[in-house]
Amino acid sequence: MPRKEKAVLVTGGAGYIGSHTVRQLVEHHRDCGVVVLDTLERGHAESILDPEVKLFTGDMADQEVVEEVFTTFQIEAVIHFAAYTYVGESVTEPLKYYRNNTAAPLTILEAMQRHGCKQFIFSSTAATYGNPVATPITEEHPQQPINPYGASKLMLEQIIRDCESAWGLRAVFLRYFNASGCAPDAAIGEDHDPETHLIPLILMAISGERENITVFGENYETPDGTCVRDYIHVLDLANAHLKALDYLDKGGATVACNLGTGKGVSVREMLAIAEAVTGTKVPVVYGERRPGDPAELVADPARAKAILGWEAEYTDVTEIVATAWKWMTGPAKGRYTNVKR
Ligand code: UDP
Repeated sequence: MPRKEKAVLVTGGAGYIGSHTVRQLVEHHRDCGVVVLDTLERGHAESILDPEVKLFTGDMADQEVVEEVFTTFQIEAVIHFAAYTYVGESVTEPLKYYRNNTAAPLTILEAMQRHGCKQFIFSSTAATYGNPVATPITEEHPQQPINPYGASKLMLEQIIRDCESAWGLRAVFLRYFNASGCAPDAAIGEDHDPETHLIPLILMAISGERENITVFGENYETPDGTCVRDYIHVLDLANAHLKALDYLDKGGATVACNLGTGKGVSVREMLAIAEAVTGTKVPVVYGERRPGDPAELVADPARAKAILGWEAEYTDVTEIVATAWKWMTGPAKGRYTNVKR
C-alpha cells in the first residue's frame, strides 16, 4: 500500500483565524501537508489561497467525512478552529453552541484516538474566564464563563484533559483575547456576517457601509468609562499555532496559554486610532452596555512566551487597525462569497 501523505488537519481553516494560520503553515511548516475541513457555512473557500491545500467541505460531526480525511492522509496533528463564535447568539441559542463547539469535535477526537494521532491545538478563548477577578488575566485565573459560548469552549478543554488521562492526547489550549487585523498584503481578511466586532464595525462606519458605530456603555469603571480589551493581531495568533505544533512535536504536555499583547485599549481610544489611520471622523452614538461585557479583559501573556517562545509582534494597535483598513478598502474582500467549492 502506498504510504499516506503526512498532514496537519485544520478544522475551520476557511475562517478568519484559520485561513491566516493555514497560510503560515504552508509557508513555514514545509515537511507536512495541510488539510482543511470546513463546512463553509461561515468560512470562505476563497480564503485558502494555496491550491496545494486540500479542502474537505464537510462537517466535523460527520463521521464519514472525518474518516475519509484520516484514511486519505496520515494526520500528525489537528488544529481545531471550527466553532460558532457569536456570544449573543450563544445566549439565545445555547444548544446550537453546545452541539457545534462541544459535541461535534468529539467526532474528530474519536478519529484521532482510532488513528493514533495525539496532538491537538485548540482555539480556546478569554471568554472561558468570565468576569475577571484580577487583571491582567493569567491562565490560573478562575474559569467561570458567563455565556454559553465560553462554557462550550471550557467544556471541550475538560474533555481534552480527560482524553489526555485516558489515551495520551496532548493539547495546547490557546486562549485568544480580541483577534483583530488582517494579512498586511490584504489578500485575506475578516468577513463575518453579521459583523459584531469593534474594529471592523468602526471601519464600516467610516467607509459609509454603516451609518454609525454604537459605543456600548460609557460608564464603566475604566479610565475613560469605556470597555478595555487586549487586541491581538491575527498573524500573531496564527504564529502561536505553529509554535504550539513545535512544542507538541517536542513532547510537550497539555498546557493552556493566553494569547494577547498584555496591553489594554479602550473603545474610545480605538475610535481615535481609527480616525488617525483613516483620516476620517467616525460617526459615533453612545448606547447602553451590552449584556455580558466585562469592563476590562487584558491578558498576561507571560506563559506563552516562557513555554512556546511566542510573543506578539504587533504591539502597536495603530498598525493592527491599518491592516484591517487596507483589507476593507482593498479588492480581495469583494471576492469573498459563501459559495461552496
Ligand atoms: N463594542 C462597542 N460597539 C460595538 C461592538 C463592540 O462598543 O458595536 C465594544 C464591546 O462592548 C467591547 C469591545 O468593543 O468592549 C470589543 O467588542 P468585540 O465584540 O469586538 O469583542 P469581544 O470583546 O466581545 O470579544
